[in-house]
Amino acid sequence: MTRGEKGLEKSVASKSLEMENTKKQGNLPNPLILQSEELYEYILATSVYPREPEPLKELRKATAPQPLAYFGTSPDAGQLIAMFLKIVNAKKTIEIGVFTGYSLLLTALTIPDDGKITAIDVDRTKYEIGLPIIQKAGVEHKINFIESRALPVLDELLQDPKNEGSFDFAFVDADKVNYWNYHERMMKLVKVGGIIIYDNTLWGGYVALPEEDVPEKKRAWRQSTIEFNNSISSDSRVEISHASVGDGVLICRRIC
Ligand code: SAH
Ligand code: CA
Repeated sequence: MTRGEKGLEKSVASKSLEMENTKKQGNLPNPLILQSEELYEYILATSVYPREPEPLKELRKATAPQPLAYFGTSPDAGQLIAMFLKIVNAKKTIEIGVFTGYSLLLTALTIPDDGKITAIDVDRTKYEIGLPIIQKAGVEHKINFIESRALPVLDELLQDPKNEGSFDFAFVDADKVNYWNYHERMMKLVKVGGIIIYDNTLWGGYVALPEEDVPEKKRAWRQSTIEFNNSISSDSRVEISHASVGDGVLICRRIC
């Protein structure tokens, strides 16, 4: 056996040991917490909906008839995002991928009155569905909406050295093929100690399925997501937690 093979055997053995330990924990019948849809409904009914602000409920209702309504951030993921915004006392934030504005309104409701969100989306028409609700909630003044592809905007922000390390928080929820490009920019825009949350990083579970079991049109984004998750995993500039909330959120804390 070559040294490489030995190393591989060892890493496979330690991996299965790790899995084994996970399985044995607490003698649960199933190592996965979310064993059923009923359990998810339970979380929503007990901990999420009773505390979801009224404007967010309204925005969800306004989004529901949209053919792409499932794009909207799920309220349980939203609650987690709000918790991080509060923990880091976020005042200046950036969001890539607005759609009708659930995560944007959530952020606007959470940060202080003099906080600012730079919100970028290629398509303003969907934002306009949520805008009247955002206006009614009295938080539009915190939002700078930019209709554009995100990358050129991030690069433009980086032209001004004042923007470096100036953001407390970022939520990235747009084209998955660009997540690593966004991450490279976020490592300059978000301050050390700041949080960057990437959405849809479990991609409906497809990341853990063999390619042949994945519908063809989903394969490119699955591949991008797998590569992104691997790259983040070995990125020493951030601490991470990959939470199985919503469609998966990869939470990064910039440490250098
Ligand atoms: N955060 C939103 C959901 C975003 S859905 C919510 O909570 O509802 C993804 C959004 O990313 C879409 O609105 C799409 O128009 C936008 N998008 C896709 N590619 C983009 C790009 N290159 N730059 C900016 N926005 C993009
Ligand atoms: Ca999303």
